[in-house]
Amino acid sequence: MEVCILPLGEVEGQILAFLNEKLSKIFGSARILGRSEIPEHAFNHLRMQYNSTVILYSLPIPSRCDVVLAVLDADIYAEGLNFVFGEAELGGRRAIISLFRLKWGVTEAKEAEEKLKERALKEAVHEIGHVLGLSHCPNRRCVMHFSNSLLDTDIKSWRFCEKCLRKLARKGLNLEDA
Ligand SMILES: [Zn+2]
Ligand SMILES: [Zn+2]
Repeated sequence: MEVCILPLGEVEGQILAFLNEKLSKIFGSARILGRSEIPEHAFNHLRMQYNSTVILYSLPIPSRCDVVLAVLDADIYAEGLNFVFGEAELGGRRAIISLFRLKWGVTEAKEAEEKLKERALKEAVHEIGHVLGLSHCPNRRCVMHFSNSLLDTDIKSWRFCEKCLRKLARKGLNLEDA
């Protein structure tokens, strides 16, 4: 399966390279597409945030990509929520994550880089999990557990639990070796 990472606006190259390496190990193959801009019509001037749903459905799907994962570094929200870390088209092809809020709560510069990479990977795998048809999982260590806060993100791992792995296997996706 080919995961295509699409940077929207300015995104740290180090984070993209890290996601590319890890996602290709987990899902079989990944690559980084040329950078695009964040669609301006997705910006809500009252909230000073971007509407993630609007961005999600404006994402292009290049023919060789099974999943397009947009990565941006701006504050995003979805209807009814103050903010989101990401969003995905359940059972579709598109997903989006934002690094903006994942940077919060860490003061040490050196630790911050590692934390950001780890959190970005968890949110990326989570949203791709939705694209693959998985819904939220009650297991707090499972990557498909819903993150309401960074604490939830930090508690969960980047891995799918046994139950979620079995669901994926039933869809013909064997990720056991990741
Ligand atoms: Zn979710
Ligand atoms: Zn699970």
